[in-house]
Amino acid sequence: MADFNEFPFFGIPAMEFVDKTLKCIDCGADFVFTAGEQLFFFDKQFKNDPKHCKQCKAKRARGGPRVRPETRTTCSACGAETTVPFKPTQGRPVLCRSCFQKLPAPTQPVRDDKSGPQPVPEPN
Ligand SMILES: [Zn+2]
Ligand SMILES: [Zn+2]
Repeated sequence: MADFNEFPFFGIPAMEFVDKTLKCIDCGADFVFTAGEQLFFFDKQFKNDPKHCKQCKAKRARGGPRVRPETRTTCSACGAETTVPFKPTQGRPVLCRSCFQKLPAPTQPVRDDKSGPQPVPEPN
């Protein structure tokens, strides 16, 4: 899609960047593409302006509307057809959502956001 070989400003030594307002294609909100960010884009030779406001970008980074691989499979417990967001390993049981919810709670440490330590921010 993006063709970085045709970066139009390549070779231009200095450019002045001015804050500009763009419209988020997801939520339609106006957001500011700051001069600093434009410089960053210029530096990275990104050809296209950003298309999402900060909020939507953050949502996407957390795996928002990105298409997840869905695999059709059959529940090992009730035999119902279901889809799972991962590729089932051969020979391992796969449960549909309702059977999965009937399972005893997983033995994961419960994160208490109010008093516990802050979760480590994810990369990117
Ligand atoms: Zn947005
Ligand atoms: Zn089931």
